[in-house]
Amino acid sequence: MFVDLGDNLVHPLSLSDCPEESVFLEFTKRMTGSDYCQRLESLKKGDVVSVKGPEGKFTLKDDADGDYIFLAGGIGITPLRSILKSYEKQKKDCCRITLIYGNNDKDDIAFKDELENLKIAHFKLVNVLSDNTGMEEADKGFITADIIGRESAQFTGVKYFISGPPAMVKGMHKELGKLHVSDDDIQTDLFAGYD
Ligand SMILES: Cc1cc2nc3c(=O)[nH]c(=O)nc-3n(C[C@H](O)[C@H](O)[C@H](O)COP(=O)(O)OP(=O)(O)OC[C@H]3O[C@@H](n4cnc5c(N)ncnc54)[C@H](O)[C@@H]3O)c2cc1C
Repeated sequence: MFVDLGDNLVHPLSLSDCPEESVFLEFTKRMTGSDYCQRLESLKKGDVVSVKGPEGKFTLKDDADGDYIFLAGGIGITPLRSILKSYEKQKKDCCRITLIYGNNDKDDIAFKDELENLKIAHFKLVNVLSDNTGMEEADKGFITADIIGRESAQFTGVKYFISGPPAMVKGMHKELGKLHVSDDDIQTDLFAGYD
């Protein structure tokens, strides 16, 4: 959705909550010190902002008949967190989902506790840390074709959802290319605005 804080401070932000979860809309913004972020931080309860949308299509099919690999980079987790929460709340059990989540280090992992405690059958979380500080079980480096191949080896009819900054999304397309994944099986949410 486009979240307009006034004075031309408008950014597209993904919903990070889901309809089953709350009666308000939730967005999760990576704070960068920009004018937009400063305005966000100055908002008080009761201030009015305007939102427009939603736009785009980044959703699981209701009649999903295959398995899913979610590839998230940093704050790109937001739409995937929304999908996973919705799936959990609806108590769905029609496919296997593995989330491969890349971050710099442990402290950058958004929704860490929640993701570790999702009550979804056949769900697996794989953390990949480029600085790998203090998390022994995480894979080290960036998300690679090797990691994706390892996690999808037993899956059937796999669909891939990628969400993250442009460089990460580009990198993931390259890695999936090494695994000969068809573009038809990839959905992308590209967070333009981050280098
Ligand atoms: C579909 C979509 C969903 C997104 N969802 C989220 C989210 O859930 N959480 C989140 O933190 N961020 C999200 N973003 C990124 C967000 O919209 C901002 O672009 C980003 O947060 C940078 O804004 P800033 O206020 O931190 O820095 P700014 O200083 O405002 O922006 C950094 C630089 O990027 C440029 N820029 C800003 N926005 C865009 C844009 N949309 N396209 C091209 N250039 C741009 C600016 O001109 C500036 O040069 C999303 C982006 C897209 C396109």
